[in-house]
Amino acid sequence: MAPSSAYSFLSHLECSRTGERYDADVLQGVSAEGAPLLARYDLDRVRETVTREDIAARAPTLWRYHEVLPVRGEDHVVTLGEGMTPLLPMPAYGRRAGIERLLMKDEGLVPTGTFKARGAAVGVSRAAELGVKGVAMPTNGNAGAAWALYAARAGMESLIAMPEDAPRITMAECQVAGAELYRVDGLIGDAGKLVNAATRERAGYQEVSTLKEPYRLEGKKTMGYEIAEQLGWRMPDVILYPTGGGVGIIGIHKALREMLELGWVDGELPRLVAVQATGCAPIVEAFENGARESTPFPGARTVAFGITVPKALGDFLVLDAVYATGGTAIAVTDEDLLKAQAELAALEGAFICPEGAACFAALGPLRESGHITAGDEVVVLNTGTGVKYPETVRVDAPLLAKDGQIPGRG
Ligand SMILES: *Cc1c(COP(=O)(O)O)cnc(C)c1O
Repeated sequence: MAPSSAYSFLSHLECSRTGERYDADVLQGVSAEGAPLLARYDLDRVRETVTREDIAARAPTLWRYHEVLPVRGEDHVVTLGEGMTPLLPMPAYGRRAGIERLLMKDEGLVPTGTFKARGAAVGVSRAAELGVKGVAMPTNGNAGAAWALYAARAGMESLIAMPEDAPRITMAECQVAGAELYRVDGLIGDAGKLVNAATRERAGYQEVSTLKEPYRLEGKKTMGYEIAEQLGWRMPDVILYPTGGGVGIIGIHKALREMLELGWVDGELPRLVAVQATGCAPIVEAFENGARESTPFPGARTVAFGITVPKALGDFLVLDAVYATGGTAIAVTDEDLLKAQAELAALEGAFICPEGAACFAALGPLRESGHITAGDEVVVLNTGTGVKYPETVRVDAPLLAKDGQIPGRG
C-alpha cells in the first residue's frame, strides 16, 4: 500500500532539555522545565512520501517544505509569499576578504523586510489552526512588525510591546496593521514582563515570545532547507548568522539535522558561526569560557538592534549548535559592522541591515584566525534589508543652490 500522504507529518513536541514528549495538537508554551519545545516529525513517512524532485516542482515559498512544517491543514496557511530568497555570490567582497566562494542569503526580500516573516508566517498559521484569538509578544521591533502584519492577514488580534528606542518603522508597521502597540521605557526583557502579565489576564491570547512557543522556530529553520536546496542539495562549509535570541541559528541546525536524517543531504554539517556585536555578546562570552549557557550581558547596546538580546532563553541550544558543528562565536564592533555595511553596498550593490553586516565584518577576523580558509564555501545570512535602517547611514551629500553648479571633474 502506498504511504498515506499528509500536508504535515508533525508527530509531537519534545522538551529541548529533557526530551520529554508533549502533545503537539493542543496549545503549548514552554516545557515543564521552562525550556523551549521542539517540533518533531515522522521523518520516515516524510522520506516515503516526498522527494527532493517533488519539492523542486513546488511554488517558491517556504511552504514547499510543508511536510516538515507544523501546519496540518493547507487551508490554515497564512502567507504573504515568504521564502525562497536569493542565495547570491558576493565575489568582490569575497576577494577582499580572501574567500573564493562567498554567498549571501538575502532575507531583505521577504515581506516586512526581515527574516522574521518566516517565523511569523508559520507561527501565526499554526496559532490560528489551534484556535488562538490573539498573539502577544515583546520585541526589539522586527518580530513585532512581522507578527502584527501576519496576524492581521489571519484575522487575529496582536499585542506588541517594544523598547521606546526600537526602530520607528517597526512601530509604524505594528500600528498600521492595527496591533495594540505599547512602547516601553526599558529593554526587551522589561517589555517581556509586561506582556507576560497581560497575557495571563486575557482569554484566547497566546504569548509568542522568542522560543516560548514551538512554531516560530519551524518557520525560521526553512532558511536551512533553502540553503541546501539552492546549492543542489549540498551543504556549505561555513554558515554565519547574526545571533540575538538565536532562533535562526538553532533553526538552521535543526533543519540540517532533519535533512541528514531524511537523506536529502549527506556529509559533514557546516560550521555554524554565531556573530554578535561587542555591545551585546553573551553567547560569545559563554563560548570563550567553554560554557553551556550564557550569563546576562550588562548594559547591552548596539546599532544592530535585532541582536540586542542580553540573555536568550535558547542560549544553550545556540551553544550546542556551535559546539556540535565545530563552529565558533565572534563579536564585532558597531564601527566595524557599519563599515562592512557601506563596503557591501559599494562593492556589491546590496544595502543590508546592520545585523547582517556584522557577519560580513566577522569574515576578516575569521580568515586571520584560520577558522575560515580561502577555499571554504561560506554562506552569510543577511537577515534584513538596509532600507529598514535609514538612520545607519548619515547622508552627507553637498547641498546645491538651484542656480548653482555641479563641480567639474578636473
Ligand atoms: C531578530 C533579528 C536577528 C536575530 O535573530 P535570532 O534568530 O533571534 O537570533 C537578526 N537580524 C535581524 C534583522 C533581526 O530582526
